[in-house]
Amino acid sequence: MNGGRLRRISFFCLPFLCIPLLSLSVDQRTAQRIDEEIERHNAEIVKIRRFIHMNPELSNREYETAKLVASKLASLDLDVQTEVAKTGVVGLLRGGQPGATIAIRADMDALPIQELASVPFKSLNPGVMHASGHDVHVSIALGTAMVLSTLRDKIKGNIKFIFQPAEEGPPQGEEGGAELMIKEGALDNPPVRAIFGLHVWPDELGQVDFSPGFIMASSDWFQIQIKGKSSHGARPQEGIDSVVLASQIVLALQSVISREIDPTDPAVLTVGKIEGGTRSDIIADSVTLEGTVRALSEANRKKIPRLIESLVKGITQSYGASYVFNYEPSIPPVYNHPELAKDMLPTLIRLLGEDHVKGLTPQMVAEDFSHFAQKIPGFFFFLGVKTLGSQPGGTLHSPNFNPDERSIPLGIKIMAHLLLDCLARQSALGTFAPKSF
Ligand SMILES: [Zn+2]
Ligand SMILES: [Zn+2]
Repeated sequence: MNGGRLRRISFFCLPFLCIPLLSLSVDQRTAQRIDEEIERHNAEIVKIRRFIHMNPELSNREYETAKLVASKLASLDLDVQTEVAKTGVVGLLRGGQPGATIAIRADMDALPIQELASVPFKSLNPGVMHASGHDVHVSIALGTAMVLSTLRDKIKGNIKFIFQPAEEGPPQGEEGGAELMIKEGALDNPPVRAIFGLHVWPDELGQVDFSPGFIMASSDWFQIQIKGKSSHGARPQEGIDSVVLASQIVLALQSVISREIDPTDPAVLTVGKIEGGTRSDIIADSVTLEGTVRALSEANRKKIPRLIESLVKGITQSYGASYVFNYEPSIPPVYNHPELAKDMLPTLIRLLGEDHVKGLTPQMVAEDFSHFAQKIPGFFFFLGVKTLGSQPGGTLHSPNFNPDERSIPLGIKIMAHLLLDCLARQSALGTFAPKSF
């Protein structure tokens, strides 16, 4: 995978976003229709969510999920494209009024986890579970398509529904995810001007968390192979002990973040795997370390691999050992376009109340939505799914993760309003020809 280069999109180059703060939001009648449509479709949407939850599929293998999504979108009379980036589905909802195209993205893949939550709609696929809530994401995006397809006359432009495979990362040796969807044209034809996404979050139901700017970290992979020399465990002077070198390297790596990186610009370096040696009484000739680096800035993203390598080089050389260093940039940090965020904040406050829209310190987890948000202005937020007053349940990626399903109609309502408000703002440009976007 390739992280690409982070490109900040200048607000000033984008007439699309340069709209005065007019009261351009969904009118009362439309808001009421949105509520009615959500109510009308709610049972079906929950049924869809439970079906997807019971039939989770791993990254790049989302065949049945994609089939369900594509047939639902086709039944709503959207233009549907399948097999985008392997199992991805793209549906285009053409609005009744002219305008730009914007998108909503939902990820579809599950995780290799055995579900332990005691729900009546437990996973039927042993060892596979929707523990990251992507079943909820798909249901919210599909529900938004169901609701907005009945309101075409109100839509000033088009809405693209992007159902993406492999957010959790494609299997070894395969391409996939947001990057491949972009490569295969998900943001083209018609060109998409802004994109919206969400992730379920173990905050309380009714709560939305988000911040402008960097909201989630990059995620890069590294591997260090230390090559020493084998000898009898009782004759260490004849060998070069890779285990001792690996131990020194793991400890020394801790100083990269704590001593070399600006503490106000967070980064994480974790060695998650050590492998090496054959027997207790043999000096190991080789040890392999694997880890992850998380950062919120491109500056740190570039600096950290250099620091790791110089440290590994220094330690191995001083003992006459050698090394191989592999570093793969994978997912860039998620960037919430500040102007788009500023424009959309009143929509969130209108729907949820000021107390329920919380600022969020950047999270060091990663999301490949960042690839989309590198190309066009992106708006990404976290949707609370923890039942009010409940004990802290399973967190994301845990076998007990069990989001409150009432987050689905709420997510649909938020997305429907955000998309309509965004297009209404865009159409207020009036005199701008589409080519000037
Ligand atoms: Zn996940
Ligand atoms: Zn996820």
